Amino acid sequence: MASAAEIAAMRRAIALSAAGLGMTSPNPPVGCVLLDPQDRIVGEGYHERKGEAHAEAQALAAAGPLAAGATAVVTLEPCNHQGRTPPCRQSLISAGIRRVIIAIIDPTSRGEGGVVELRRAGVDVETGVLADEARVVLGDWLAGLRERRPIIIWPYLITGQGLEPLPSDTAEARRLRLNADAVLRVDGAVREAVPGSHGTGILALKDQPPGTSAAETAAALYDGGVRRLLLDGGHAVATPFLDAGLVDRVVAYLPHRSASRRPAAELPWPLLPPGFVITGTARTDSFVRVDGQADALR
Ligand SMILES: [Zn+2]
Repeated sequence: MASAAEIAAMRRAIALSAAGLGMTSPNPPVGCVLLDPQDRIVGEGYHERKGEAHAEAQALAAAGPLAAGATAVVTLEPCNHQGRTPPCRQSLISAGIRRVIIAIIDPTSRGEGGVVELRRAGVDVETGVLADEARVVLGDWLAGLRERRPIIIWPYLITGQGLEPLPSDTAEARRLRLNADAVLRVDGAVREAVPGSHGTGILALKDQPPGTSAAETAAALYDGGVRRLLLDGGHAVATPFLDAGLVDRVVAYLPHRSASRRPAAELPWPLLPPGFVITGTARTDSFVRVDGQADALR
């Protein structure tokens, strides 16, 4: 059983992992907290971007010699593959970590991941701790793996005239870009959501020629390393993806200029596309923001 301190540390690891959103693809955003035998945090870290140190390595570096005898609390199963750096499970073993708490097992490990090797080395391992909460951050990465395509998010503004793109210079648009890998425009142009966020040449972004089907576009972007894709435009950019059932989430912005008015133009729908349900709302400077999700995802 994970202790109360380990569970609390897992929540912190989950929050840390979210700092990697929009930066780590195609790797997962992972967080790690190290607790000493007195339950004090002696190190923590997260995977900042692809090609850089994994969360466990960051936490071990922060802890230094204090890692010996500590418990590692990590949101995803430590990796077991030799890359540019040794596998994380080996770094944990070498540092003298005594116990490892894991939220989610890496589905790509196929039962040959870090857990097996950690146990073989005599490390006490517990899995499935706060898995549902860890999925708040890792869910899109896991869903992308399953579907072999990026999770697709379409933000739009509902005006009296119809559905319009969210202006790119707003705080809301920037917030969405920070959490995404790439942006697809209606002309097929694909851009990194935050230029330079993945370093040079990490994402093989290719513009999508006219006539490419939504499914082909999604698959090509997945192969290029994109795990979270924003659609940038009005109804036109989203229609092929909506028709193919490939839009996972929408973010609808409804201006709150006046409580008493009526739309001037006919809208395709009052708020959300058919088949979408509300998962959250918030008041922003000029809008009510409504998060919607394809009902099939629930
Ligand atoms: Zn690793």
